[in-house]
Amino acid sequence: MMTSPSTEAPIRVRIAPSPTGDPHVGTAYIGLLNYIYARQRGGQFVLRIEDTDRTRFVSTSEQMIFDSLRWLGLTWDEGPDVGGPHGPYRQSERTEIYRQHADLLLANGTAYRCFCTAEELDAVRKQQIAAKLPPRYPGTCRHLTPEQIEANLAANKPFVIRMAVPPHNGDTTASTTFRDELRGDITFDHNNVDDQVLMKSDGFPTYHLANVVDDHLMQITDVIRAEEWISSTPKHVLLYKAFGWQTPRFWHMPLLRNLDKSKISKRKNPISLVFYQQAGFLPQAIINFLGLMGGGMPADINDGTEQFTLTEMVEHFVFTNIRLGGPVFDLTKLKWLNGEYLRRLTPEAFYAELRRTILSDAYLSQIAPLVQQRIEILGQFGDLTGFFFRDDVMPPQEVFLPKKRTLEETLAFAADQLTLLEGTDWTTEALEPALKKLGEEKSWSVKENFMLLRAIITGSTMSPPLLESLVVFGKARSLDRIRRFLDTQKKQAATKK
Ligand code: GLU
Repeated sequence: MMTSPSTEAPIRVRIAPSPTGDPHVGTAYIGLLNYIYARQRGGQFVLRIEDTDRTRFVSTSEQMIFDSLRWLGLTWDEGPDVGGPHGPYRQSERTEIYRQHADLLLANGTAYRCFCTAEELDAVRKQQIAAKLPPRYPGTCRHLTPEQIEANLAANKPFVIRMAVPPHNGDTTASTTFRDELRGDITFDHNNVDDQVLMKSDGFPTYHLANVVDDHLMQITDVIRAEEWISSTPKHVLLYKAFGWQTPRFWHMPLLRNLDKSKISKRKNPISLVFYQQAGFLPQAIINFLGLMGGGMPADINDGTEQFTLTEMVEHFVFTNIRLGGPVFDLTKLKWLNGEYLRRLTPEAFYAELRRTILSDAYLSQIAPLVQQRIEILGQFGDLTGFFFRDDVMPPQEVFLPKKRTLEETLAFAADQLTLLEGTDWTTEALEPALKKLGEEKSWSVKENFMLLRAIITGSTMSPPLLESLVVFGKARSLDRIRRFLDTQKKQAATKK
C-alpha cells in the first residue's frame, strides 16, 4: 500500500459540496471539522464545488452554500469566489482536466471504454437481482480487442469509461486496504468493488474521478468527510494507484442522526441552513452545537457547560477523540443552547439580532404591501401578519379540514403538497400552476387546495394572499411548517388509536 503524505507537507483540507439544493447542516458540520483541522495546523481550507451531476444541479444552490457557510464564520482560503493557485474550484470548469486524466488511465490499461447500452445493462441488472446477486457490471467490455474498439468508435457508438478493478492487466491484487485515521485499516475485497464509471457518455466525469483528480491536483493532504463515503474510498485508492499518486489521509466522520438514530433527514429535522438562518438561530449557537457532535471537545471545557466558541474549538478540539457512534442532532438541545446565547447578549445586541433577522427592513418591507389593501388602521398589521413572525402555528381541525373531506384524505393531500413544493421553484409563477395541477390530479378544488395550505402556513382561514405570503415567508420555513403540521397530526392520530 502507498504511504500517506509526509507529516511535513503543508496541511490542506477541503469541503466539496454538491450544489443540489439548500445547503445542508451536514455540510456545515463537515465544514466546521475541516476548518478546525486547518486552523489548528496552520493549513489551508479549500472550498470546491462538485457540480458534475447535471441532473441534480440547482442554480441557486452555490450562492446559498457560500452565504450560509460565511454566516457561520467558516471562511475558506481558496474557492470559486475567492480564487487561489489551484483553480478553477468549480468542477464544471475543469472537464478538460478530467478528460485528459481519463485518457491517461485508458493508455496505461487501468480503465477501459464500455459501449454497453442502457438496455443491455438493465437486462444484466435484472438477472442479477433475480439471482439475488449484488448488481455489478459484468465486465463485458473489458476484453474488447483494439479492432473492436476502433470499429465501435468509427461507428460513433456512445461509450463511458470504466475503471478496471484488479485483477486486470497483470495486477493480481484481490483487495484494497486503506487506513482510516479514526478506524484503522479497512479492507475491501475486489469482488465487492464494481468497475465504476469514471467518465459518462456526456463527457462529464463521475464524482469518483473528479474528486480524486482534484484532491491530488489541489494537493489535499487530509480528506475529512462523512462516513457515507467509506465505501467509495477503495475506488478512490485504486484510482490514486492507477495514476501512480500518493493517497491523502482519510478521516471519515460519524453521520449526524435523527433522535431515532436514523441518518439525519428532512422528514425528522430541519436540515437546511437557510432554515436556521431565517428562523432566528444564532450562528455561534449552531457552531457550538455542531462542535458537540462526536465528542472531539474535552468535556471539562468551560466548567463542563458544553458552551464554547469557534476559537476555543480551534484551541482544544481533538480529532482522535471523536467517537464513532452517530451523534444525535437534537433540535431541543440546539434550541436550549440558542436560548443560552440569546440571554447572554446585551439588550442592544439582542435588539440588533432581531433587526438583522425576523424584524429586518428587508423582511418587513416585503410583508407590508401584502396587507396594505386589507387593513383600516395600522394597528391591524399584527393581526394579519402574526404568522410571519411566529416559530410555529398549529391550526385546529375546524380550521384546516375542508367540509367534505376526511382527516385521512386531507393529511394525504397535505403530504402531496409537501412533496410537490419541495421540488418547486419558490416564485408565485411556479407555485400557482404546480399547486393547481396537483389539485386537478387529486380532484381537490382550487379553493380546498389553497385553503388547506393557507391554514397550515398561517394557522387561519384568513390571510394576506397565499402565494405571495409563501414567497416572502421563504421555502425553508414554509416546508418546515408543513412537516411539523403533518408530524403533529400523525402523533395525535397515533395517540387516539
Ligand atoms: N461532493 C461530495 C458531497 O457532496 C463530496 C464528498 C467528499 O468529500 O469526497 O458531499
